[in-house]
Amino acid sequence: MSTQNFNYWTLVLEHLRSKISGSNYQAWFSNIEFDAIGNEGRKLVIYAPSEFHKQYIEKKFNVELRESVNKYYPKVIHLEIRIKEQEKVPKKQIQDSLDLKVAQERKLEKLEVTPTEDREKIASYLPRKNLNNLNPKYTFENLVVIKSNEFTVNLAKGIVQELGTLYNPLFIHSPVGLGKTHLLQAVGHAVLEKNPELNIKYVPSDTFFNQFYLALTKGEAQKFRDFYSSVDLLLVDDIQFIGGKEGFQNEFFHLFNLLHQSNKQIIFTSDRNPKELIGIEDRLVSRFEWGMVTDIQKPDFDDRMAILQDKLQRANLILSPEHTQLIAEKVNTNIREMEGVINKIRAVLNASVDKELSDRALLSVLGQYIKQSAANAENADLLVANPDRINMAVCRIFGITPEELLGSSRKANVAEARQITCWLYKNDLTLSFPHIGRLLGGRDHSTIMHAVRKIEVLIKQKDARIISKVNLVKQFLLEM
Ligand code: ADP
Ligand code: MG
Repeated sequence: MSTQNFNYWTLVLEHLRSKISGSNYQAWFSNIEFDAIGNEGRKLVIYAPSEFHKQYIEKKFNVELRESVNKYYPKVIHLEIRIKEQEKVPKKQIQDSLDLKVAQERKLEKLEVTPTEDREKIASYLPRKNLNNLNPKYTFENLVVIKSNEFTVNLAKGIVQELGTLYNPLFIHSPVGLGKTHLLQAVGHAVLEKNPELNIKYVPSDTFFNQFYLALTKGEAQKFRDFYSSVDLLLVDDIQFIGGKEGFQNEFFHLFNLLHQSNKQIIFTSDRNPKELIGIEDRLVSRFEWGMVTDIQKPDFDDRMAILQDKLQRANLILSPEHTQLIAEKVNTNIREMEGVINKIRAVLNASVDKELSDRALLSVLGQYIKQSAANAENADLLVANPDRINMAVCRIFGITPEELLGSSRKANVAEARQITCWLYKNDLTLSFPHIGRLLGGRDHSTIMHAVRKIEVLIKQKDARIISKVNLVKQFLLEM
């Protein structure tokens, strides 16, 4: 195996890491090994630790893996995943958490000296200087001001006028689909329009973390710091995803202080208010609350009518008042769903001869939507939380087998995995202690109660390791 080829493989893994979630990467790719490249560069052989890994990767990540492979080995046509024989690979335990790894790398990285000229080069994982990642659609012009967002929109407009000094940071929270990302980027556009010279960065928090992670693995943390400490306006979307990522939170804490002290504006969005964030250090939570915390509420009927009318008009669609009202009444979850329904209606109208929407056609679109949202609500429960899925996720994250989980092993790692399983059964499935005991290999209800309490206490005490584990399992459940 040439060093060159092996180096390419590490690049493949890094690339892949930026494409899929941290927990998926950790669970499925952290122990994949490069074997050989042959047949004049057309065949790549890698090793997976088990048949299960191989099948899962082939089923779920085929496209991503091939893309990443072809980026660095453009000639590869045939990708073979072999199973590493057990005795050859001591089963690697899944890392304690992504964060411990980050922490270790942080230590390593401190010892390395980054040559200055290297720092000057633009890192491939950071956006180019003149790119701010703003979606041209998300402007104030396209944002309908309604009762449920008026207060927050006004705060945001105030910030455009007095960048860095009015409310800093601004923290916007709401459930999904109510326009947080849109508003966040609208501020970016408006600030740029006023002053095109300013350095503005929009970044979803998981991308932010990935950039940091890659910077660390390349020993380029300073490059990351330089990049973000020079911004005038930092727009961080969905900050809740940094929960449990301690190493990153530490880095971000310093960045925040630096920017804040020099009156650089920071705006966050989140799916919940700062107090309800899980696995985020107190000192960061308190900083989130320094400026102004504000929310966007669910639109009521009048708000939904206003949004609909605006969207229909922009799409050049003419509906009768009765139809518009019916849509506003039925599609009451969020604005993204409303856009979905409008798109369907547009498609129906395009296909119709007389370009008029019949009652029947509208009812069919609405019927599909109602069925779909009911199914989503049901599936969300079914899919995310059932005992088998929880077991599987816990096993993956802890690197143990289902037999170990349900059996009597007292190894610390296994015992902890079992306790977290109990807590998830209780918390997410609201099962009774005896029921949980039966599901977990016939354990006594008092044992279960003890386990659940133990995790509860640790979470209350903000035990970073447990919280990070729970978060990894939960994230994994959502993605598997
Ligand atoms: P969130 O970030 O809160 O999940 P988004 O900003 O992604 O929500 O909004 C979802 C969709 O709804 C986007 O296409 C956005 O343009 C649209 N939208 C949300 N609020 C409004 C509004 N007030 N006026 C017009 N469109 C909106
Ligand atoms: Mg969003």
